[in-house]
Amino acid sequence: MVSDDAKGSPRPSPPDSRRAQGGLALHWKIVIGLVLGAALGTACHVYFRVPEAPGWEDARDADGNRVDDRLDWVAANVADPLGRIFLRLILMVVLPLVFSALALAVVELGDLRHLGRVGGWTLAFTVLLSLIAVVIGVTLVNTIRPGYRLAEEKREALSAQYSKGAEETIQKARQAKPLKDTLLDIIPENPLQEMVGALDGTSKGNGMLAVMFFALAFGLAMAAIGEKAAALTGVLQGLFDVAMAIIGFAMRLAPFGVACLIFAMTARLGGELLTTLAWFLGVTVAGFALQLFVVYPLFLLVVARRNPLEFFRGASDAMLMAFGTSSSNATLPTALRVAEEDLKLPPAVSRFVLTVGATGNQNGTGLYEGVVVLFLAQVFGVDLTVTQQVIVVLMAVLGGVGTAGVPGGSIPMIVIILQAIGVPGESIAIILGIDRILDMCRTVLNVTGDLALAASVARWEKPVTE
Ligand code: ASP
Repeated sequence: MVSDDAKGSPRPSPPDSRRAQGGLALHWKIVIGLVLGAALGTACHVYFRVPEAPGWEDARDADGNRVDDRLDWVAANVADPLGRIFLRLILMVVLPLVFSALALAVVELGDLRHLGRVGGWTLAFTVLLSLIAVVIGVTLVNTIRPGYRLAEEKREALSAQYSKGAEETIQKARQAKPLKDTLLDIIPENPLQEMVGALDGTSKGNGMLAVMFFALAFGLAMAAIGEKAAALTGVLQGLFDVAMAIIGFAMRLAPFGVACLIFAMTARLGGELLTTLAWFLGVTVAGFALQLFVVYPLFLLVVARRNPLEFFRGASDAMLMAFGTSSSNATLPTALRVAEEDLKLPPAVSRFVLTVGATGNQNGTGLYEGVVVLFLAQVFGVDLTVTQQVIVVLMAVLGGVGTAGVPGGSIPMIVIILQAIGVPGESIAIILGIDRILDMCRTVLNVTGDLALAASVARWEKPVTE
C-alpha cells in the first residue's frame, strides 16, 4: 500500500479490502459467494417449486393447496437477515460518509480557485465529462428499459420482498412536487432535520440532496476561510476515515452477505432474475463502452488535441491497475507515473488534476449510479417524472464527485438516490451480486477520465506546439 504522502493526497489510503485474510482476493471471494448463493438458491427453487420436482408433493396440504412456505421461511428469516447485516453496516455510515466526503472534496476543489485557470478548467471539464456520462447511462436505461424485461409477477414479488409498503413508497414517488418547490427544497431550512429523514424518506424537503447541498456550502465556506478551517478539515478527515474503515469491515463480509442475498432472491424467484440482470449488465457495459470508446476519444481529439490511440497505449498501465483494484485511490500512484512518463504531461498540472480527480472526477461511477437507480425504479414500477429524472442526473453527477475512490464506494450514494426518488434503499441488494465486476469496469472509466482530464487541462492551460 502506498502512503498518503507518496500519493500526494490528503485522502487516506483506502481500507485494504482488496485482499481479505487467507490470501484470496476479495473480489474472487465475492464471485464465489455469488455463484454458490445463486446455485444453491436456484437448486432449492427448482427442488421445492417446480411442480414435477421431488419435494413438491410435500409442499401441498391434503386438499392439494400449496403450503410450501418452508423455503420462503428460510429465505426470509435466515438468508435475508444474514445478508442484511452487511448492508446495514454500510447504511449505518452513509450520512457521515457523504457529508465528510463531499465537504472535503469541495475543500479540495475550492482550493483550485487559488490556482486560477487550472482550477477553472478542471472544474469545467469534470462537470462536462460527468454530465455526458450520466446522460448516456440515463438515456440507455430509458430506451432499453432493462427493468421492465422482468415478468410482471416477478417484479411484484421483488417489490413485495424489498419494500415494506411498496405501495405507499411508489405512491409517494409519484407525487411529484412542482419544479420550483423541488429546486427550493434543495436548500435545507434545517439540515439536521433533513439528515434525520434522509434515509427513510421522511424529510420535509429534498432529504439527501439537501444534505449534499449543505455539505457543498460547508466545503466552499471552509475553502474560503482557508487556514482557519484547518482543524475542522482534520475532524472531517477523521470522520471520513472512520466511515471508510467501517465500510472496509463491511466489505469483508461481502462474500457471505452477497451469497445470502442472492440465495434469498434466487430461491424465491428462480433464474429469471438473472435474465433481468443480464439486461442490466448489458446496458451498463454498453454505457461504459460508449463513454470509454466514443466520448473520451472525441474529447481527447477536440479538447486535448491528442491522438486517442497513443493516449490509450500510454494510459494502459493505469487502466489495468484500476481494473484489478477497483479503487481510484489505489491507482493514483500509477496514474501519476503514466501521466508523466508515458503521456508526457507537465507534472505540476497532472499531479494536481489527478489527485483531485481521483475523488472528484468519477465518470464511470456517475454513469453507473444513474443506470442502477433508474433500473431499480423500473423493477419497482416507479415511473419517474422528468423532474425526478433531472434529480437523478444531478445527484449522480454530484455522486461522482462525492463518492470515495475505493471498492464499492458508490453503493452508499446509490442507496441515497434510491431513497430520494422513493425506491427502497434495500433494493440495491438486487444488483449487489454483480456489482463487483461492474466496479472494476467503472473504476477503469474513472481513472481514464482523470487522465483525459489532466491531458485536456494541460493543453488549455499551456498550449503545446508539437
Ligand atoms: N470503485 C470506484 C473507484 O474507486 C468507486 C465506485 O464507483 O464504487 O473509482
